[in-house]
Parts: sequence; structure tokens; C-alpha cells
Amino acid sequence: MGLFDAPEPVGVEIKGHALRCVICGHNRFHRHKIRLDRAGLFTSEWSDPMAVSYECANCAYLHWFMPQ
Ligand SMILES: [Zn+2]
Repeated sequence: MGLFDAPEPVGVEIKGHALRCVICGHNRFHRHKIRLDRAGLFTSEWSDPMAVSYECANCAYLHWFMPQ
């Protein structure tokens, strides 16, 4: 489908916590970096317009992380 940055899903850790899908509990994700300004979502409160999303490799639910 051309949506994946990496061909293999990976385990993800957020501040010491293993990320698990909130829908199905899976622990492997496809990582995507999204430019929020191009998506029309960017506000000047953020210094970095890049957000990261992790797509569950099992059910495809997207877990979003905003710029820090
Ligand atoms: Zn899932």
C-alpha cells in the first residue's frame, strides 16, 4: 500500500513503558513520521512540526505522539 516506513513491525517503548495497542493489546507497530504542518494541524505552540504515529501491526489502530 506504500504506507509503511519500515517493512517489519517493531516493538516500541515510550518513556520506559512498552507500548501496547489500546484496541487489541498487540505489541508490534509500524512507525510513521507525519508532518503536521502539511496536514493542516500544526500550531505555533510546537517547535517541531513532526509527529510520530505507531500503527498497530495487528489491527492498524494509530497511536499518535505529538512533538515534544
Ligand atoms: Zn491493535
